[in-house]
Amino acid sequence: MQTLATGLSYLDLHFLGRPHAVATVVIHDAAGVALIDPGPTTCLETLEQGLQRIGLRMSDVRTILMTHIHLDHAGATGTILRTHPEIEVVVHERGAPHMIAPERLVESARRLWGDDMDRLWGEVLPVPERQLRVVRGEEALVAGGRTFQVAYTPGHASHHVSYFEASSGIAFVGDTAGVSIEGGYVLPPTPPPDIDLELWRESVARIEAWSPSALFMTHFGLVTAVRTHLQSLLDNLAATAAMVRVSLEAPGTDEERSARFAEHVRREMRRGMTDGQVEAYGLSAPFHLLWLGLARYWRKRGVA
Ligand SMILES: [Zn+2]
Repeated sequence: MQTLATGLSYLDLHFLGRPHAVATVVIHDAAGVALIDPGPTTCLETLEQGLQRIGLRMSDVRTILMTHIHLDHAGATGTILRTHPEIEVVVHERGAPHMIAPERLVESARRLWGDDMDRLWGEVLPVPERQLRVVRGEEALVAGGRTFQVAYTPGHASHHVSYFEASSGIAFVGDTAGVSIEGGYVLPPTPPPDIDLELWRESVARIEAWSPSALFMTHFGLVTAVRTHLQSLLDNLAATAAMVRVSLEAPGTDEERSARFAEHVRREMRRGMTDGQVEAYGLSAPFHLLWLGLARYWRKRGVA
């Protein structure tokens, strides 16, 4: 457990045994405990052990704040609620139907992950509707004794929200600020089906409007050079999107195009990072899926 401020910590979930791939934020005070993005069910034991180490139990948790419903962020929620049915789950209105009935979410994840699905994410259970607190991204809410501003931040996912906690100055941005492990390359996670470059840029502006002193990313951790980081994200998003656009005109199948793109990204990243670090990025945002999401974005706009 790493401390961000008094009563505000985060836990490395050691996703598939890898450090610095997936994090959960833990907000704790006398008023109760809140989590931001509890992670996938395959990490639930690690989450419970992490809570125990600072004297907390899952039964102390009152609120789960969801940045979005992708399984690496939210997969464990239904399983947690099965044994802790009093927890309130905060989710964007567009994500809520998929928490109540996760079949389509699971089905679309299975299309992306195939047979690897269970090993990666484990069980995905529904969340009872009465436990949901549905937000639009214009509200403020109290969780774990702290007040969070909510902003709608689509681009990576159409139901993505970010949370700003003014007293610490930290914005909890899920995947909207990208993936950056140990201060390395800022990778824009662009899996299908929701990628939208224009909305993503607006979301970054919305986060900047909070003037946060730091960003907390699920993949992975705290960034204090906020402006530089967000600029790198936007630059890299524009560059990878342009690369995918060009690839759509190139000969070959989509499989070949996405493989070439993945190889290019991997090569770029290896310049400044170890193989282990590049592997951690691949866990958080598999490179061939990044191509698919951007290809879908361009094709929806009639490119190629
Ligand atoms: Zn995501």
